[in-house]
Parts: sequence; structure tokens; C-alpha cells
Amino acid sequence: MKFESTIGLEVHVELLTNTKMYCGCSTEFGAKPNSHVCPVCLGLPGALPKLNRKAVEYAVKAGIALNCTINNHSRMDRKNYFYPDCPKNYQITQDKFPLCRDGYIDLETNGTKTRKIRIERIHIEEDAAKLFHTDSGTLIDYNRAGVPLIEIVSKPDIKTPKEATLYLQKLKSILQCIGVSDCKMEQGSLRCDGNISIKKMEESKLGVKTEIKNVNSFKGLEKALEYEYKRQLKTIQSGEILKQETRRWDDIKSKTFVMRNKEHANDYRYFPEGDLVAINISDEEIEKIRHTIPELPYNRAARFVNQMHISRQDAYVLTMDMDTADFFENTSKLVERPKSAANWIMGDIERLVNETSRSIKELKFTPKQLSELIKLVDSGVISNNIGKIVMEEMFRAGKNPDEIIKKNKLDQNNSRDEIYGIVRRIIDENPKSLEDYKNGKKRATKFIVGLIMKDTKGKANPKIVNELVNEEFNKR
Ligand SMILES: [Zn+2]
Repeated sequence: MKFESTIGLEVHVELLTNTKMYCGCSTEFGAKPNSHVCPVCLGLPGALPKLNRKAVEYAVKAGIALNCTINNHSRMDRKNYFYPDCPKNYQITQDKFPLCRDGYIDLETNGTKTRKIRIERIHIEEDAAKLFHTDSGTLIDYNRAGVPLIEIVSKPDIKTPKEATLYLQKLKSILQCIGVSDCKMEQGSLRCDGNISIKKMEESKLGVKTEIKNVNSFKGLEKALEYEYKRQLKTIQSGEILKQETRRWDDIKSKTFVMRNKEHANDYRYFPEGDLVAINISDEEIEKIRHTIPELPYNRAARFVNQMHISRQDAYVLTMDMDTADFFENTSKLVERPKSAANWIMGDIERLVNETSRSIKELKFTPKQLSELIKLVDSGVISNNIGKIVMEEMFRAGKNPDEIIKKNKLDQNNSRDEIYGIVRRIIDENPKSLEDYKNGKKRATKFIVGLIMKDTKGKANPKIVNELVNEEFNKR
């Protein structure tokens, strides 16, 4: 019997406004605990909220970029719950009348195929305070209380854990591109809850779902959903009844744990927020916001494929992040083959950036300098391997490639006479290879070429080396 999973994601995104949702306190991350607070965000009696217009504008911008319908009229509601992270004992959010609804993201699931993942709604709300559980008790930082959030709720259109991470990555690249959030998962400005259920392939009725909380990385999301799929499958196959519950993902133990089950589900008793007027946005205002949206990652990827003749896959990877896409575009304008620029950026540069936990924005060299390196390699002045050495130095010190080559005497050796001498010497030193070659092992040339490249520290022109080794083997 074959089972399949059905997944929906609820993504919370902190907006990049300077001030909080209902007061003028700063939203700066990492400030001294409880230094950005006032009577409103501390929920003191009599304090009145005032809606942050910039947050509404950002939410509308996100809605447009995610193909949503923007509601001209929406309103704020109170969601009642009692917990120390919410000092008012209710969160001001949107229930029945959210700002945006019925959007979608096109997902490239399988190379050229795309599939629509529908977005049910995007609403605005405030973040809660951050709790720190210690051995001696719980500490609370109210700096985060009242920070503007949007919640993006997908329909259960996602089919696999892998698709869920692709969806989240795409969502992140769009939100970063339009500048409404920095989407730093490690700082909690992008957080995700996953709903997952499983059912038999041929059935249409959805299974009992679990909600997974506390996921804070792409890898964590995929692992948590995979774990939950297996756990649900095992439960069903052993004949037990699956319970609807909320579970917490533990990254270190790589397991989910029960937080609460349905019997203990909260009744939030939503009702309209009486201290804030309804939100009215005219079509003209929506159009004005639409015009502030830059070229979105997937449009840019399509343009890269058409203009620069790179593959869809490469274009997709390069446009996941705005800075990478900018760096690629600026470099490729200066070189003959944009594909070379793509290879360097997705290969050596990406690796070096990851190894040093830096970002492409912090590179010490410019697109112009990268283009010079590409020209040197593509025209055969230096070999690809030497190019890699030069790149390491450019990454470390930000110098010009020709300067690095001169200083370290890395120029490629193109002298046939000189290389011929080395070829003869190496073949003399390895008579077994010649014997193998004569016995039909044509690959023996590769071994000799490898030895020569090693002997010359990669400086011999590989094309000449190959030619001379073949000539010499056939001559002897
Ligand atoms: Zn405040």
C-alpha cells in the first residue's frame, strides 16, 4: 500500500520597519533586553495602539509579489490567550478579514516542470516576547513584543518535505528581493510551522494532521517533515490511531515531541479590535505599491536563460539571492561566456563563502576583477587549476588576478620545447605506463599527464601536454 504526504506551511516573517506594529518603539535586533518597550507593547492598562502604516504597505507589497488579491477593506482582531510572552493577554492579529488572500508561488519541482502552491492568506499581526528558559527560571525580553509580522498561510498543496523547503526558499528569495524582510532564520525573522498528514495514494480524504512548531532552518524543516512522515506511517501500519496534535521539533535530537493534543486546543475567542479603525486601501494606493516592486527572482531567472544562455537550473540557483544575482549579472556583462561566470560563482566562490560563513556581499573583489580572472582562464593564459589558486588569493586579499599571478610566478608554461623535455623525462621514469599503453591500455596517457601536471605544479598548458604525451607514446 502506497502512502503520500500532504503538507501546508505557516510562515511568520518579521517586517523591516523601523518601529513596532502599534507603537513607536524600535525594532532593532540584539538590543539590551527590555530596552525597546513602552506602555503599549508592555500591555499596560489604558495604553492605546496605533497602526504602523509602513507595515501595512510592506504586507501589501508581499501580497502583490505573491500573486494575492489585496482586500480594500480589512480589520484587526483580538486573539485571546494567556501566556507571559503576550502581556496584554491577547494578540492583535487578523482573523476573518485578512489583508491579502488567494495567492500562489510557482514551484520548479522537477527541472522544467512548475507546480502552483496556493497561498490561502497573508495577514498582519504582532510578534510575541522572547522567553529564555534557564535552570533558575524563565527570563522574558519584551523587545520583540509588538514587532510587525506577516503570516503567510499556504494551502495543503505541498507533496514532499523537499518541496516544502523549495517553497520556503522561494518565498524567502521573493521577500528579500522586494525588501520587506531580511528573512534571517538564525535571528528568527523568518519562522515556519509545518502541517503534515499522510493518506493512501488512491484516497482523496486527508489524514489526521500534526502541526510541527519550532523549525528554524531549511534543513530542520525537511528533516522534521521526513521524521513526522515516518512516525505517522509507523503508527498507522501498527494499527494504532493517529492523534491530531501539535509537536515540537528538536534539532539536536532530530525528533518531534508532543506539545499539546486536540483536547487541549486553545479557544482563542477572536473578536474585533475596538481600539483600531478598519484598514482601507484604495486601488490607487495598491497600484502605487505595485510600481515599487523590482524584477522578481523568477522573472530574472527567465531573463538570464534568454539573454545569457545559461541553463534554467543555473539561473534558478543564481537568482535565489539578490546579491548573488547582481554579482553574476555584473560579471557576465564583462565576459564572453556568462556560463563561465556562473560556474565560478556557483563553484569556488560559493564554496569559499560557505567555508568562511561570509556572504557574497562581503567579497573583497569586484565583478570586474572576477571577469579578468575568467578571461585569463578561458583564453588559456593560465590553467583552470591555477585559476582556482588565484581565486583563493583574490578571496583572501582582494588583489587583481594578474598581480597575484606575477607575484607567485603562476603564469602558464606554453613552451612546447620545455614541456617536451618534461614529457620525455616523466615517460622515462615510468616505463610501466608505456608498456600498459602498448598492451592496449589507452588510459595510461592520463596517468602520465597527471604526473606532468603535478611536476609542473599545474603550470604546463594541459592541451600541449596531452598532445605531446600522445605523440611520444605512439612514437616509442
Ligand atoms: Zn512600545
